[in-house]
Amino acid sequence: MNLVQLDRKYIWHPFTQEKNLKEPIVITKGEGAYLFDTNGKKYFDAISSWWTNIHGHAQPKIAKAIAEQAHNLEHVLFAGFSHEPAIKLAEVLVKLLNDNSDDEASKLTKVFFSDNGSTAVEVALKIAHQYWQNKGQVRKKFISFKGAYHGDTFGAMAVGKASGFHKNFETLLFDVDFFDFPTTWNGDSNAEAKEEKILTEIEKYIQQNKNYIAGLIIEPLVQGAGGFNMSGERFLRELVRLCKSNEVLVIFDEVMTGFGRTGDLFACKKASALPDLICLSKGITGGFLPLACTVVREEIYEAFLGNNFDKAFAHGHSYTANPIGCAAALASLELLIRNETLEQIKMIESVHRLRLEHLAKQHEPITKPRITGTIAAFDLNKKNGQYAGQLSEQLKNKFLTQGFIIRPLGNVIYLMPPYCTRQEELNHVYNIIEKTIGDLK
Ligand SMILES: *Cc1c(COP(=O)(O)O)cnc(C)c1O
Repeated sequence: MNLVQLDRKYIWHPFTQEKNLKEPIVITKGEGAYLFDTNGKKYFDAISSWWTNIHGHAQPKIAKAIAEQAHNLEHVLFAGFSHEPAIKLAEVLVKLLNDNSDDEASKLTKVFFSDNGSTAVEVALKIAHQYWQNKGQVRKKFISFKGAYHGDTFGAMAVGKASGFHKNFETLLFDVDFFDFPTTWNGDSNAEAKEEKILTEIEKYIQQNKNYIAGLIIEPLVQGAGGFNMSGERFLRELVRLCKSNEVLVIFDEVMTGFGRTGDLFACKKASALPDLICLSKGITGGFLPLACTVVREEIYEAFLGNNFDKAFAHGHSYTANPIGCAAALASLELLIRNETLEQIKMIESVHRLRLEHLAKQHEPITKPRITGTIAAFDLNKKNGQYAGQLSEQLKNKFLTQGFIIRPLGNVIYLMPPYCTRQEELNHVYNIIEKTIGDLK
C-alpha cells in the first residue's frame, strides 16, 4: 500500500468528514514558505499551517536549537523541578509583554505553561474562577462574544459555544452570556456606532451582574476561526477599561493573534490594552512543537498563595513546559524581534493593503476586505447564482492545483503567510486570486 492508502486505513483526521476525504495530500518536506508533497509538487503555504508557522518551514536556527536541547535534556516533570529553557522563556515573554508599561499593577508577570491553545484557555478560565473562590466569592459567569473560537476542550467550547462549532456537545457546556463582536472592515462607516452600542450593552450587563461575573474572554482585534472578524483598537481599550473598573477579569485569547500576526508583537500591545490574563500558543515555537502559556498579573497569582494546598492551582499536564518546546520558542522569539523580521511584517501588511483594496474594487464577489497586520481576509459573495460556499470550495481546489494552500472558512477567504514570504511571492498569490476569481463560474 502507498502512503495515501495506509493513511486511509489507519488515520482519523481532525475537523474532517472522513467519508469525503479521498486523498489527503501527503507532505514530505518543508522549506521557507513552501511545502512539498510525495510527488515533489511544491505548495506555497498561505495560511502558515494552521496559523502556527511564523518564520517558514524547517527554519534552520529553530531546528538547531531543538536538536541541541534534545541531546541535553528532553523532558523533566515541572512540579518541584525547573529548567533553564522554561525560565529564560518566561523571562523573555514577560519582558516582551510589558516593555512599554510603567504601571506595575497592570503588568503580566507570572507564566503558567501548558501544551496547546485550548489548554491555555482552559487554564485561564480555571484561574479566573478559582481566583474569586480564593478571595471568598462565588463567581461562575463568563462572558464572551458571538463568533468567538477558543478551542475544543470543554471550557474552551463553552466560551466559544456561539460560534456554532461545538453543536454536538452543547448540552454538556456551562452557561455563558454572549455579546456581538464589533466586526468591521475597510470602508465601514458604521464602525464607531457598532462599538458604542456593544460597549453600552456590556456596561449595562456588567452593572447588573457584577458580583457574579468571573471574567470576560475575547480574541483581541481578530476573531480567527469564527471567520476572521476584525475589530478596532479603541474598542479593546474601552472594553478593558470598563471591565477593570468593575472588577471583571479580562482574558485575551491571543493564541492566534500573538507573535507578530497583528503587526505588533501582541494585539494587546498594538491596542495599548493589557488584560488580566493572556493565552498564547500557535506561533510560540515558530510552528515546530506544541507549547502554550497563560500569563497573569501578579495580584492574580498572589491570590493562590496560602498555608495549605487548598488555594493552590491544581492543574498541570505531563508535557508542561517541555524543554525542547521552550528551546524552540526561545529560538523563534530571537528571530521574531530581529529588525529584518519586523520589516517583513510591515512589508506583508503593505502588500495586503495595496492588493486587497484594489481587488475588492475590481471584483464584485469580493466584499468586506479587512486587514490587521499580516492577516488579510474578505468575504466571497454569490456569483452567477452559485453559493459562496461552492465558490470558495472551487477557489480552494483551483489554488491547490496551482500550488497554493488556502483554507476558506465558509465564504471567508483569508491569507496569513509566514513572515519569510517575499514581496514577489505574496504579489503572485494575489495575482492568482485575481485571475481565479475573475474565472469563477
Ligand atoms: C487555534 C485557537 C485556539 C485553540 O488552540 P489549539 O492549539 O488548536 O488547541 C484557541 N484560541 C484561538 C484564538 C485559536 O485560534
